[in-house]
Amino acid sequence: MTTTVPAPLDVPALLPDGSHLIAGDWVSARSGSTLDVVDPATGTVLARVPRGSAEDIDDAVRAAEAALPAWRDTNPAVRGELLYRWAESVREHDDTINRLEALEVGHPVGPSPVAARLTYLAGKADKVLGHSLPTRSPDLLGLTLREPYGVVGAIIPWNAPGPMTVFNTAAPIAAGNTVVLKPAEDAPLTALFLARLALEAGIPPGVLNVVTGYGAEAGAALPAHPGIRKMSFTGSPATGTAVMEACARNLIPLQLELGGKSPQIVLPDADLARAVPAIVRSIVMNSGQVCAAGSRVLVHSSLHGRLVEALAESFRAVRVGRWDQPVDMGPLINARQQKRVLDYLAVGREEGAEVVVGGGRLTGEGYDDGYFVAPTLFDRVLPGMRIAQEEIFGPVLSVLTYEDEEEAVAIANGTRYGLTATVWTRDVGRAVRLARRVQAGQVAVNTLGDGGPGGAIGAPFGGYKHSGFGRSMGADYLEDWTQVKCLVINAG
Ligand code: NAD
Repeated sequence: MTTTVPAPLDVPALLPDGSHLIAGDWVSARSGSTLDVVDPATGTVLARVPRGSAEDIDDAVRAAEAALPAWRDTNPAVRGELLYRWAESVREHDDTINRLEALEVGHPVGPSPVAARLTYLAGKADKVLGHSLPTRSPDLLGLTLREPYGVVGAIIPWNAPGPMTVFNTAAPIAAGNTVVLKPAEDAPLTALFLARLALEAGIPPGVLNVVTGYGAEAGAALPAHPGIRKMSFTGSPATGTAVMEACARNLIPLQLELGGKSPQIVLPDADLARAVPAIVRSIVMNSGQVCAAGSRVLVHSSLHGRLVEALAESFRAVRVGRWDQPVDMGPLINARQQKRVLDYLAVGREEGAEVVVGGGRLTGEGYDDGYFVAPTLFDRVLPGMRIAQEEIFGPVLSVLTYEDEEEAVAIANGTRYGLTATVWTRDVGRAVRLARRVQAGQVAVNTLGDGGPGGAIGAPFGGYKHSGFGRSMGADYLEDWTQVKCLVINAG
């Protein structure tokens, strides 16, 4: 885990104070209101951003509409080239982007997938293909063309603003759409900085607009705007439902990425030396505020004692503190999230689960001003308990025991979620059998499944069941941001 101590960051030198990006201009909210972005480790104000509203969203949609005809008709190879330049600039500013995200989210600095994913998508811009169709006569030519939707909207959460910005804007832009992005109020700075780099790389003004503000104000206005032709939303199921309702009223399609309760299934022959560090990392990374966090360990009864002992030892060794110290884990994002996690710790105890490590707030010097919660290991968790069913979005791991494969599958599939799953075993046959039976959009065997670090390039990411629908970042992702036009020509 992280051991380096990064340098401090001068936020005002990176972003104009109190401004978001519309039509290539850094402007304040129409209302003039701002909101504070707060360092979750200390509670101090890092920056002010506009408190955007429906008026600002309208301005941004109009800017995106104005930019659309030229961008849509730009040679796709040139669009790709501009995205490559954006990726290059991101690579040059990698350290700044990582520290900016660490500062506003509170997690320690780690490797970022942003530049690599941008490069991947840039390479796809001129590879969106249609088909030729069989025709009833040789005089006829039938084709399908893939055309961009137009102006599309994206709403992202605070937990990984760098990757989320790229995953939800670069593919639509590469495919010829123009975009209005609404980042989360808790962590909008990385998105604004990435948009600045896009503009400086030569992506024309109005192609990527960023409107900051609260969800109920700027956020709610985006899917309801008549100029928006498709949406993507990443966040909680409750807000996802509200966004889907707005999309239904606006009759526009939606890509939805929601939460998870991802199982880590440990079979009797698992290599614990390999599994334990990965299981701990999966729930400690970003303080468990990761939709793909492996928050449930399903262990065969024969291994239960050994695994819990090893997990407990690793949990006790997790260093918690400010992102700019040599730590493994930072605070939670805000007071509301801290309370939510502490409430779940109380629920777990009341339900009869046993706290093995952690179990409360971290206090004392370095902790009192921030939103810290101890990494917590719950044992003797039963499948029906709320801590085994609901997404906590914190550093809380639940250990459940099973007796046979049938029971493991039933527990793994026994929540409303289905985002990712991991199987730990040396037996390839059992791994394949389990992987096929687990309801999840991404299954990893003997590696982490959190969005593709298992090493699969172009791994499609997205959920089954209430984890959402649509897949991002796969090889055919750009096609999702196009609609099909059928063209028939009578050449006779
Ligand atoms: P949230 O749903 O409250 O907020 C997400 C975004 O939606 C923010 O930008 C917010 O401002 C906006 N928003 C809030 N209310 C809105 C409304 N009425 N209309 C339109 N937009 C609105 O989620 P959160 O608490 O910020 O993020 C945590 C949740 O996100 C967790 O449940 C987590 O699992 C999920 N998440 C999922 C993924 C994924 O890829 N599946 C990734 C990250 C986070």
